Amino acid sequence: MDAEKYKKLFQISERLHSTLNVDILLGELFVTLKEEYPDYSYCLFLSLESYNHSDLPILELEYDSENMAVITAYESGEIQFESSDLPRHAALYAPLKGTSGVYGVMQVIAPDVTEFPAGEAEFIMLLSECAGRALGNAQIHQQSKKTISDLQLINKTSHQLNSNQPLIETMTFMSEQIKSSFEAQEVGFFLFTKNQLKAKVLPGSTPFFFTQQARIYIDYIKGKFQQNNEPLFIGDFNLPSYPSTAFHSVMAVPVVVSKKLKGFSIIMHPDPFYFTFDAFKLLQSLVHHSSLALTNALLRNQLEKLVITDHLTKLYSRKFLDEKIQQSMDKDEEGTFIIMDIDNFKEINDTYGHQIGDLILVQVANIIKGNIRQSGIGARWGGEELAIYLPAIPLETGVMIAQRILNKVSESSDPHITISCGVSYWKREFQDSYEYLFKRADEALYRAKHTGKNKVVIQGDTVMAG
Ligand code: GH3
Ligand code: MG
Ligand code: MG
Repeated sequence: MDAEKYKKLFQISERLHSTLNVDILLGELFVTLKEEYPDYSYCLFLSLESYNHSDLPILELEYDSENMAVITAYESGEIQFESSDLPRHAALYAPLKGTSGVYGVMQVIAPDVTEFPAGEAEFIMLLSECAGRALGNAQIHQQSKKTISDLQLINKTSHQLNSNQPLIETMTFMSEQIKSSFEAQEVGFFLFTKNQLKAKVLPGSTPFFFTQQARIYIDYIKGKFQQNNEPLFIGDFNLPSYPSTAFHSVMAVPVVVSKKLKGFSIIMHPDPFYFTFDAFKLLQSLVHHSSLALTNALLRNQLEKLVITDHLTKLYSRKFLDEKIQQSMDKDEEGTFIIMDIDNFKEINDTYGHQIGDLILVQVANIIKGNIRQSGIGARWGGEELAIYLPAIPLETGVMIAQRILNKVSESSDPHITISCGVSYWKREFQDSYEYLFKRADEALYRAKHTGKNKVVIQGDTVMAG
């Protein structure tokens, strides 16, 4: 080989090593071959799974290939030659060798000769060595990028799961993450009942899973998991009893905590063989890392529902209050609702600290409890806002109670604070809803705040500042 050729090779090598993108690199390789040998024909047999060039002459390297020279070159890592008279041509098979093995074999065919020109063979061999090394680097780069993004996904997801967000938000987040990372069409989460007989669809699952059509998939997978905890990777889902299923690619992973099967996740796409095996492994590791946090989030959700009293004030929870008001609106003739908010509470916290602030909240709560009868419901509405519902109590009585509490708070709180109250009421003869009842009380409270605080304002009343 002459100096000119070596120079050429050096330039090509620079070009191939300047990119870390496998697709660009392969494109460059073919451009080089075309430039150097416009009369030859080429084909690349690759063992790599991930390349996107449909316009390049690239074939998948298959072990059962008829072409023994390809397999020999691939397995031995040595260049192979072959020739034939019909039609007359000589072929060369050069392995693409990189740091972590042989990636494929480059086939180059010279027409109208029975022996491959020796000088060209050497050039092509050196070219293939150089391409193999560049390909190895690009491969490693792409793999590490993928690994990093996989880890980021797992990290982000478990972070979200541990952040005590409401369950629905957490699950919706997970579902969105999986949808975008796996390019899935449907994502579902399911929770087994105690006896593992039924599987409940969890919020955050894509809407499809709440429909009747989803039953065949859910029931099939549920059945599999009832037998064993093996994750499922199905490339072409078909059931004899349902000849035309809409989703062919199905992956399902069990949620196991302390060796107990708690539920499972299903990911689907209409196209067959859509998900890669790498995606399947990533999904397993994602679900595995999320399992504990997921069941914790579920437990917390159930607990929140069970807890009907507020921990600090020992007043009822808002949820309990909501339920009681709805019940009362169904069966009683009337009722009064009071919402109260501590005036300038931020100042109290800033001056005395949060702990004293908490004690003030407890003081106000105790005054409320001491001034309502058995049937009245005092609740922590949220933060520093407290509420009272008085079933079957007319407005006048309700306002009296609110005023009495307001006075007591101002007289006895220590450090001294005041409260503002908004009062609303409903009567059977008028169409009403509990949302609207809240809204009217809230508006009245707003007016109390904006006209000087430390006062009771009734729904619909106009009040003067003072
Ligand atoms: P306003 O008279 O307009 O109600 O003024 P405010 O300062 O009370 O109102 P704002 O809504 O600006 O601030 C409410 C404060 O209540 C902020 C928050 O730190 C405090 N807070 C809410 N919940 C609690 C609690 O559980 N404990 C304590 N110590 N403070 C709380
Ligand atoms: Mg407030
Ligand atoms: Mg306040």
